[in-house]
Amino acid sequence: MKRTAIRGYGGSGRTFCVVLVLLVSAWTVGCMMKVEEPTAPNLLLITLDTTRRDHCSVYGYERGTTPNLVMLAEQGVRFDLAYAPMSVTGPTHATIFTSLYPIGHGVVKNALKLGLEYQTLAEILAENGYQTAAVVSSFALNGKFGYAQGFEEYDDDFGEAEPIFSDEFWPDHLNEGGLDRRAHHTTRQAIGWLDERRKRNQPFFLFVHYFDPHAPYVPPIPFAELYVDPNDRSDYLQYLTDLYDAEIAFTDWQVGVLLEALDKLSLERNTLVVLVGDHGEGLMQHGYLLHGPNIYEEAVRVPLLVRWPDQIAAGQVLSSPVEMVDLFPTILDLLGIEPPPVPIQGRSLAAALYGDEELDPERPVYLHRRPYKERMLKTLPKYNPQSVDSILVKGQKYAIRVGRWKYIEGAEEGTKELFDLDADPGEGSNLYSKLPEKAAALALQLESWRLSHTPDGLVQVPVSDEDEQRLHALGYVD
Ligand SMILES: [Zn+2]
Repeated sequence: MKRTAIRGYGGSGRTFCVVLVLLVSAWTVGCMMKVEEPTAPNLLLITLDTTRRDHCSVYGYERGTTPNLVMLAEQGVRFDLAYAPMSVTGPTHATIFTSLYPIGHGVVKNALKLGLEYQTLAEILAENGYQTAAVVSSFALNGKFGYAQGFEEYDDDFGEAEPIFSDEFWPDHLNEGGLDRRAHHTTRQAIGWLDERRKRNQPFFLFVHYFDPHAPYVPPIPFAELYVDPNDRSDYLQYLTDLYDAEIAFTDWQVGVLLEALDKLSLERNTLVVLVGDHGEGLMQHGYLLHGPNIYEEAVRVPLLVRWPDQIAAGQVLSSPVEMVDLFPTILDLLGIEPPPVPIQGRSLAAALYGDEELDPERPVYLHRRPYKERMLKTLPKYNPQSVDSILVKGQKYAIRVGRWKYIEGAEEGTKELFDLDADPGEGSNLYSKLPEKAAALALQLESWRLSHTPDGLVQVPVSDEDEQRLHALGYVD
């Protein structure tokens, strides 16, 4: 067993060298054969659920949570200011697949089906001769919600895989059939496809989604032992944060296992790897533990790494803002595929990746808070049923960031917030009443974007009662 990929985890001065026999016994790489590389480049797209940028050591977090992402960034490009359009799983993935904002494709919360009329990344790659496959890890990305479009294989059957969501955590909900699976099962499936079912004479697009950093935070034992003191819950938020960090570390380790398999199959050099978080997590920074209700920075800023050996110079750091709508046109551009004759709302970052162009530091970033029926949400849902603290959610919210300024508007909640992110990166001091003209200009720009990016006649397909119950089990509420 190689240990290099599991060194580097934990706090200062600690090295993780526990032999994770149980976790790796499910797969082997001994059977892998060296193969001819296809002429066209492959694409491996990895999404990490609920992974806050600032809890990844590749972005300077003081804990060693992501040594494999550090390695990936050293071999490729790290985007420092990458934004998810919303802090909800389904909508952000729909945006990655279509280059449309949630208001453009209509998936503004989980389980609103992505319409078949959209041209997805997988469909376009399939039309261009790619073998396509996906391995996802949450019911929120079930193929029935439209995400399987264009994939020859879409593995969303969690079968006997060990779940994160257990009856202990979710006694009142429908767990039959599985709501999710842990990262090592996901990795095993992905490597199995690469090794056994991939056609050697075709380029491939493999999409792999990891779910573990999503609540409940129940990291596997070796990682829990490294980050969490089970006997000290005096600071309950710190205890939860420790568990969350351990989940990120476990997921990072599995990313390393997957990338190592790519190497062993001699696919590393001819494969474009894009790794991105689907959204962040609140961790009580603005009164809420999880994600969904807020679009503050901790909820929407995500890791984004791109690696393509021999094609894109290694070790670059790009610090201007980019959005998830950019991934679709960027990937097609890099792979040399014409974009489809349909509207897209992102822009290609390929020239910046090749070093031919500077990104615009003043480019506006647009954010959207999913709609809620009016309700009070417990701030520590599930973990602490006795908690009396709660936040009001009602309707939708929108935000715009331009340079140092960020404006957030919640019409139904009656909130208007203006932040100077240079002086106040934690968004703690609302400057709206001090700088009303600045806020008004941003509000106008935001409204103009909203009107021009919402297509006429957009239809949102409703969810069934049973699926509603499953999603509620995952923590998603209306
Ligand atoms: Zn998610």
